[in-house]
Amino acid sequence: MIPPLLELRDIRAGYGGITALHGVDLTVRAGQVVALLGPNGAGKTTTQKIAAGVHQVDSGEVLYGGRDVTGISSRDAARAGVCLIPEGRGVFPNLTVRENLWMMTFTGRSREEIEEMAFARFPILEQRASQTAGTMSGGEQQMLALSRGLTTDPAVLLLDELSMGLAPLVVERLYEQVAQIAREGVAVLVVEQFASAVLDMADHAAVLVRGRIEYDGPPGRELRNELANLYLGSA
Ligand code: ATP
Repeated sequence: MIPPLLELRDIRAGYGGITALHGVDLTVRAGQVVALLGPNGAGKTTTQKIAAGVHQVDSGEVLYGGRDVTGISSRDAARAGVCLIPEGRGVFPNLTVRENLWMMTFTGRSREEIEEMAFARFPILEQRASQTAGTMSGGEQQMLALSRGLTTDPAVLLLDELSMGLAPLVVERLYEQVAQIAREGVAVLVVEQFASAVLDMADHAAVLVRGRIEYDGPPGRELRNELANLYLGSA
């Protein structure tokens, strides 16, 4: 079995007096796409924020590559190779595609190298290079956000609601690229509220309902049959 790059063990966390996660366990391995599903407010985003050091646990452990990093800051998490692409795309809408990419030169890569990487993976971005990011389609903005994230050479990629507001065909294409990124050795954790597209390409799935993992297993038929009950149970 490939060793895990990201592990959450018995995580409890919340906001002030509200507990959002009641003992969450989750493992993501190199080369694997794990889909974290669940209805509104289940705690998916909180789980990802904890994985990225953006939110801190009340108890439990966070491990990167088997090393306990509980309490790590978001900055150190990023240095350790954990890249969070938050919901809402994370691009600068008033800057051009090219300028958005150039901002990533802090990684030590040249502008040319960064453009080359992005345009090779998403050729449409080359056609849009001089366009302001905010005027692109949602799918194109998501491609740009992914391209920016990949310049950091992440070991762990955390994607929050990648499919939000996008047409099914666009989502499918994006997920083909996500699967490709995983094949290159990255551990990918994808959070989604609506399941079908991500389950087509995920290697593993977990379902979070009201802060508890209610399913942890293969993304196949058994889960699809069970999903409606899991979601309805939360209503
Ligand atoms: P969605 O799919 O709607 O984005 P989610 O599964 O990502 O939901 P979270 O955003 O992790 O869920 O929220 C989990 C719980 O924590 C919810 O009850 C939410 O209201 C609460 N919560 C989230 N962020 C905060 C915050 N900043 N302050 C207080 N409560 C919060």
